[in-house]
Amino acid sequence: MERADFAVIGRGLMGTACAYYLAQAGCDVVLIGPDEPDDAPRHDGPFGSFHDAGRITRAIAHDPVWARLALRSIARYGALEQQSGISFFDPCGAMVAGPSAGPMAEMAQDFLQCAALLGLDHQQMDGTTVAARYPYFHLPKGSVGAFDPLGGVIDPRAMRRAHEAVAIAAGARVIHAPVTSRESGLLQLSDGTSLQAGHVVLSMGGWSAMPGLGDARLAMQVYQRTILLAAVDDRQAAHLARMPSLIFVPDDRHTDLYVLPPIRYPDGQRYIKIGGEATSPIATEATALNAWFKTAGSQAAADILRGHLQALMPDLVITQTKTAACAVSFTASGHPYIGRLDDDTTVLTGGNGAAAKCADELGRLGAVAALGGDVTAEGLGADFAPVFT
Ligand SMILES: Cc1cc2nc3c(=O)[nH]c(=O)nc-3n(C[C@H](O)[C@H](O)[C@H](O)COP(=O)(O)OP(=O)(O)OC[C@H]3O[C@@H](n4cnc5c(N)ncnc54)[C@H](O)[C@@H]3O)c2cc1C
Repeated sequence: MERADFAVIGRGLMGTACAYYLAQAGCDVVLIGPDEPDDAPRHDGPFGSFHDAGRITRAIAHDPVWARLALRSIARYGALEQQSGISFFDPCGAMVAGPSAGPMAEMAQDFLQCAALLGLDHQQMDGTTVAARYPYFHLPKGSVGAFDPLGGVIDPRAMRRAHEAVAIAAGARVIHAPVTSRESGLLQLSDGTSLQAGHVVLSMGGWSAMPGLGDARLAMQVYQRTILLAAVDDRQAAHLARMPSLIFVPDDRHTDLYVLPPIRYPDGQRYIKIGGEATSPIATEATALNAWFKTAGSQAAADILRGHLQALMPDLVITQTKTAACAVSFTASGHPYIGRLDDDTTVLTGGNGAAAKCADELGRLGAVAALGGDVTAEGLGADFAPVFT
């Protein structure tokens, strides 16, 4: 029987970073989880919310806690790239924008107030200045925006690989299979093997909310999301070479839209990605969540996203599109859950659609909690306490 002092269940963005910080602290740690499937429709799950080529990173946020988490992580991207030899960060900048008046103006103002509160470097702009600087963006009259020079795009797959490479270099072991059952520290894996761990970190993304490995049910809603990828030819990609990532708050919806600049995907094609749904179905069972990831997402949602993309970038010539499924996990607190469930178990989950950029700091906090430390004393302005249903 394999044994370990620490077992991190979930080889996603938070779990892999956590395994790195535990190994770096000299712990005997095993990181457990399946590889990303080559053929999603034939994979029985679990999947991951990082199975993509791009995620927006930015320090500016509507909540100072998320801004602090991102700031600390962004400050360490360079060292992680150097240590691992894997580059994952494109510092192309991030733009957050929205209406200066009306029901959603408050959300746009929250971004600006947070930047002022934390003294974040940013350039505030009105719609005319945005249009002059980024002629391919068409923001409605009366929009206000802020450019975040610390922001840009990360490749979540590559960042996860970088964390895994430095974790292994620091002594961590990796098991490429899902855990199928758990009795305290005794773990059964899908390949028929078992492992005895002194302490377990549950970091399974959306799957953390599903009945199965956790004793208590977390108060976390897992939304099935769709993204649209719009193919961009070389001429357009050259024209958009200095495009920043964009978070845009329309004045008629209680959620934002996000657009990423052209990124080359594994199929060799460059795509602009757009996402952001006002609502979408909630998964409550692992089987339903796995079934969702086997699909290409919702065509109806993709059609709406295409309309928003054409409105935001009217000159964009969209020749070909593709869609993909994903999932975001919203907690009752609006912050990730990081803490001890009992002496043998720590939970590290709850990305709220925003954790890719700050997975490094979240992983570090997960290691602090697993080692018996107090995450409320880490100066982030939140207690990250898990909430249960
Ligand atoms: C469409 C979309 C767009 C997003 N855009 C952004 C963005 O622009 N910027 C940003 O910062 N964030 C963004 N996010 C959010 C970000 O991707 C997530 O917050 C982040 O991936 C969550 O990390 P995690 O480690 O909690 O979960 P994941 O990254 O999903 O990892 C969980 C891992 O646990 C594994 N697992 C599950 N069950 C088991 C088991 N039984 N045994 C072993 N392993 C298991 C899974 O296979 C997976 O690998 C986006 C998310 C989505 C869906």
